[in-house]
Amino acid sequence: MKFQNTLSFARELDAQDALAPYRNEFYFPKVKGSEVIYFTGNSLGLQPKRTQAYVDEIMKDWRELAVEGHFYADKPWWDYHERLAEPLAKVVGAKPAEISVMNTLTVNLHLLMVSFYRPTKKRYKILCEEKAFPSDQYMFQSQIKFHKLDISDTLIEIKKREGENFWRTEDVLAKINEVGDELALVLIGGVNYYNGQVFDMKTITRAAKKAGAFVGWDLAHAVGNIELQLHDWDVDFAAWCSYKYMNSGPGNASGIYIHERYLNRRDIPRFEGWWGTKKETRFLMQPQFDPMETADAWQISCAPVLAIAPFLASLEMFEEVGMQALIKKRNLIVSYLEFVLEEIDKEVDSSFEIITPEDRGTQLSVFLHGEGRPLFDYLMENGVITDWREPNVIRLAPAPFYCSYEDMYRFGQILKKGILKK
Ligand SMILES: *Cc1c(COP(=O)(O)O)cnc(C)c1O
Repeated sequence: MKFQNTLSFARELDAQDALAPYRNEFYFPKVKGSEVIYFTGNSLGLQPKRTQAYVDEIMKDWRELAVEGHFYADKPWWDYHERLAEPLAKVVGAKPAEISVMNTLTVNLHLLMVSFYRPTKKRYKILCEEKAFPSDQYMFQSQIKFHKLDISDTLIEIKKREGENFWRTEDVLAKINEVGDELALVLIGGVNYYNGQVFDMKTITRAAKKAGAFVGWDLAHAVGNIELQLHDWDVDFAAWCSYKYMNSGPGNASGIYIHERYLNRRDIPRFEGWWGTKKETRFLMQPQFDPMETADAWQISCAPVLAIAPFLASLEMFEEVGMQALIKKRNLIVSYLEFVLEEIDKEVDSSFEIITPEDRGTQLSVFLHGEGRPLFDYLMENGVITDWREPNVIRLAPAPFYCSYEDMYRFGQILKKGILKK
């Protein structure tokens, strides 16, 4: 398709977009009376209009049934979270039994490390990407300290090459082979939050398992964004938050995946609580832990139903649309955004450098050479919600659920004005 940087062409793409009606399923903030161009679905997804009803339902049941809501609500609370397993399994390419929804992301990664990071004298090293998301870095450091190991000896970071902005799969594989039988765990962000790179999870997982390590993925920026086949890729475990591309609200519940080979295994250590016991006998309040046969065995506390309700609302939309349709639109809208950027670049005396490699999802990270923070401020003041990362990068993630091609065109025009105004 030959793109054009015109309003009419953008509108033509919108007219052909099967997902276009979903834009109206979301609330858009307004700036100066107009709906914003929202590029931060990679940070906090917009609120779906239907979410309110899911929350209201819980509030009503609580109001009218009180404690009886655990068993007699239309969607009883005691197993409310189980409703999420099936639709979520489709989003990440897993079996429903391999999925649970609980806690928040970093908490879950810690809990999964309890099970899957069990250093021995010989095999104790952890491999991650350099400059991992800060929370992940703190998690690694504190886990290593907890095991009384030395951080600089234990945590191995995969570097980008000098002068390059992305990681090469061959360098990841070389590092895995180099660390070899000292490698206990590979845990990487499946889609990097900074440059938007999609890691070759299938290949890296295979290599790490061959080296005898456990493999987990932090899927915060991957879930609802790219195609995932966690089970078929033989991934050991993964976790993700639900408030980015999954649109389930600030700080909301996290999802976990644990490969079915680890279910019903008494030899795997785990921090346990009453929501991980078999629900049939849970309320007999017996002293011995009788684990659920699914990933729910990792649940500790009773489920935060009010927080999970928006996640269920959002998953209903993923069910309706399916990842394939989202990915199809994603590819087109991101390519169109890239085209618009290149066209504007030709028109102004500035230079953008897209640092996101070809293996990408929804996000383009753009280096604004010669521009500074004032341009970012101009964008925000004019209704373009994006985010700024030092030294001079804006991240643009046009979520296919609710962003339009017209948004991309209008963004280009605002960007041009902001640069020419200097
Ligand atoms: C967003 C994000 C997190 C956030 O963790 P929380 O525990 O939900 O605050 C963690 N890791 C990565 C890679 C992220 O992108």
